[in-house]
Amino acid sequence: MPINRVVIVYMLLLIGLWGCQSKKHDDTKKVDSIVLKKDTVVIKPKNIISEVEKRMIEQGLVDIQTLDSTIMVELKYSTTDNFVKTDVYGDLTRAYLQPKAAEMLVKASKALQEKYPNYRLLVYDAARPLTVQHTLWNLLDTIPPKKREDFVASPAIASIHNFGSAVDLTVYDLTTKQPLDMGTKYDFFGDLAYPRLEYKMLKDGKLSKQQLANRIVLREAMASVGYMRIESEWWHFNAISRARAKSLYKIVE
Ligand SMILES: [Zn+2]
Repeated sequence: MPINRVVIVYMLLLIGLWGCQSKKHDDTKKVDSIVLKKDTVVIKPKNIISEVEKRMIEQGLVDIQTLDSTIMVELKYSTTDNFVKTDVYGDLTRAYLQPKAAEMLVKASKALQEKYPNYRLLVYDAARPLTVQHTLWNLLDTIPPKKREDFVASPAIASIHNFGSAVDLTVYDLTTKQPLDMGTKYDFFGDLAYPRLEYKMLKDGKLSKQQLANRIVLREAMASVGYMRIESEWWHFNAISRARAKSLYKIVE
């Protein structure tokens, strides 16, 4: 073999080897980033005040647990245990509300505990940034917009959550160390979640008397302080109407 041909073959071999190595390197990097991502989902640094929290504080919203530390908080959108199976909150792990809505929630928490000392409010969502409303909306892009509005408010209209005046929550039982059985999970999008269909569901044997009674425990505590329920989600309560929220507050961006 002429010498220049040997050099070319050698160079081709070297390029091939380098290619394999860099591919290997890429694979390792991918594995690292998956591990890192897992870690950030599991371990949420509570001492970090996220950018969105700073904006909410600037707008006058309050961390509800600073007013009542017995209120439990597990922001489902800060985990992958939600209907889009995606952590859309990142570093946001605390529940914020407008002061009026937060004070009402503290009163609801007291009313609940007066009647049921072992029960606690467990908050799944409170003030929700509009950017997240967009993310949720876009993650469901396989569903036509009209139908999509059954699951998530269009960012064009904005949800009362975006004004820091709505809360999603359930009741937690300290004795069993579990939330009460409400008949469906949080963000279950179907007839069984609809308060307006409860008596039909009961008649059809899809909702038990106990599950309905549990929903009423939550509803009574919330209604006693002026929170308004909606007819499509047992877990959602508005402190004020959307029109009033719009006139009083800025959207949380
Ligand atoms: Zn809600």
